[in-house]
Amino acid sequence: MKPVYLDNNATTQVAPEVVEEMLPYFSTYYGNPSSMHSFGGNVGKKIKEARAKLADLLGAQPDEIIFTSCGTESDSTAIYATLRSYPEKRHVITSKVEHPAVKNLVEYLGRNGYRITFVPVDKKGRLDLNYLYAHLSDDTAIVSLMWANNETGVIFPVEEIAAQVHKRGAVFHTDAVQAVGKVPINMAENQIDLLSLSGHKLHAPKGIGALYIRKGTKFAPFLLGGHQERGRRGGTENVAAIVGLGKAAELAAAQMREENTRVKALRDRLENALVERIPNTMVNGDRLNRLPNTTSIAFEFVEGESILLMLDEFRVCASSGSACTSGSLEPSHVLRAMDVPFTAAHGSIRFSLSVYNTEAEIDLVIEKLPPIIERLRKMSPFWGQKDKACQIAS
Ligand code: PLP
Repeated sequence: MKPVYLDNNATTQVAPEVVEEMLPYFSTYYGNPSSMHSFGGNVGKKIKEARAKLADLLGAQPDEIIFTSCGTESDSTAIYATLRSYPEKRHVITSKVEHPAVKNLVEYLGRNGYRITFVPVDKKGRLDLNYLYAHLSDDTAIVSLMWANNETGVIFPVEEIAAQVHKRGAVFHTDAVQAVGKVPINMAENQIDLLSLSGHKLHAPKGIGALYIRKGTKFAPFLLGGHQERGRRGGTENVAAIVGLGKAAELAAAQMREENTRVKALRDRLENALVERIPNTMVNGDRLNRLPNTTSIAFEFVEGESILLMLDEFRVCASSGSACTSGSLEPSHVLRAMDVPFTAAHGSIRFSLSVYNTEAEIDLVIEKLPPIIERLRKMSPFWGQKDKACQIAS
């Protein structure tokens, strides 16, 4: 039985068209793109084509893009490359709700001589811009903020922020791993210096990412080695995956409208029905400024993990807002930063859709989930005391 896959912010199905485009690069066309012979050279041409397709999706120039192994590598590259380019600057600004790919790196930098500012968000997950601008200084090397949050889908005004950051002479990086393919991006019309993306979030395979580097941006390579990527990232190219990412970018550009209409309508149908039918349920994050495919819903007084296990019986895949650390279920740092009450954060589920989802799948979740929550609440020691618990939480 096919899963009802509503976990597309974790990873996506590789599009059949992408698989088809990639296959010959595992078998027939195995040449090294750096080779002098035409057998390799033709592979190089295909990489060039993929780079142009990705550039088109971003409104960028092809030579502003380097291929990496994943979103995490792109984030690390952007931040390290900037810090090494401006060794005299020792201040980094980021937010409290970044993905671990940025969060863990800047925390490491904080333990190793850098001063880090974590910009807070409000209860809807919106960035405190005044706090951010007040903390920019001549010592700020880089500001790194995600374009869209992976848990709530909340979008940050990164284009507006990039312009302000430039006025203080700092570099601006955005982790756009969740935004690319879901919202229109035009790098020709903004001042963002560096932008990370990841193939497996947009129907390309895992193990391929890219970093946009605006022409003229100071860049000290992270991976030193061969002359690949015009000396900006050593290592023989992951040819098949690059070809796949190119095709996925082409599909994403063609499907952007669908993402923002049909997929968004399916997301809204799911969200509205669940909030309407299940008491003590609310949406986490700014409903007016979100990715079209994402909803994070808090079902108070139940454990997210239990919900996921029961949904799994119907082959429904989603994610919870908790992280299993040291044996205890801690609400995610994103929901904690948004001050979501413990009883709600614990029962938060993220549903993230894609163009492959159907109305029938959404209706299945709408049918199956309310009785699941009811059953779990009957077993919950907190449900009977919810009025008391609410008083404590408020
Ligand atoms: N940044 C964000 C916002 C993400 O959601 C993810 C993956 O979930 C990453 C970075 C890391 O991407 P990758 O898995 O390709 O390393």
